[in-house]
Amino acid sequence: MKKFIFANWKMNMLKEDIRKWKREFFKVYKESVENKENVEIKIFVPFTHLFYAKKVFSGTEIEIGAQNVFYEEKGAFTGEISPLHLKDLEIKSVIIGHSERRKIFKEDEEILQRKLKKALEQDFEVVFCVGETLEEREKGETEKVIENQILSGFKFLEKKKLNKIKVAYEPVWAIGTGRVATSDQALSAHRFIIKLIKEKFDSEIKVLYGGSITPENFDSLVCFEEISGGLVGGSSLSGDTFAKLVKIALKYTK
Ligand code: PEP
Repeated sequence: MKKFIFANWKMNMLKEDIRKWKREFFKVYKESVENKENVEIKIFVPFTHLFYAKKVFSGTEIEIGAQNVFYEEKGAFTGEISPLHLKDLEIKSVIIGHSERRKIFKEDEEILQRKLKKALEQDFEVVFCVGETLEEREKGETEKVIENQILSGFKFLEKKKLNKIKVAYEPVWAIGTGRVATSDQALSAHRFIIKLIKEKFDSEIKVLYGGSITPENFDSLVCFEEISGGLVGGSSLSGDTFAKLVKIALKYTK
């Protein structure tokens, strides 16, 4: 079973950091690591550094993706990035619906529906993020929130495009807080998402976990079949730490 280990660099990493990251990553993730084909590694990089990162990682097993994309292809949208700009750089993957975009940049369900529709129309692979706040969890609304986010986000989805999407379950209270979900909490949300997609679309889906992943806690999550990998923020900023995460995931791919 393949695992997917994705780095979300957020608004970090300058050119020099990227070069250092690569050196440190490949010091740990050496030629001698076995079964490398069992993991897919992507780094989601700030727009301005996509071109540079693609150059730095060319010829390696690491794919470079973008952290966002707009829902129109061209026109009077100052400051936005079109899917055509990304395609021009040969970028094939994007994140949509990260909780920081939802919360800080007020991306609502309608915006996310349009972004997902456009990204899939343009044949991108999409990591679609969902997850509840602490308040919602404490009120027992976790499943309701996730269901709404998925059904609303996927409103214009054609079933044949589902294989281009991976869902990232990222409880908001676990993102950047050092408070990771327990195996039980993550498993129950992942199983819920897998069941929901099966019921609504009669299809399978890969679900990644995200939220304060570290080399110390990753085993307890990625060991499960239903947890197909991780979307990693803080721990992805060091090449050395991220390489350790990829090696941990590899243990569970046989
Ligand atoms: C994220 O932002 O997607 C994330 C999971 O961040 P962190 O790993 O830092 O919690």
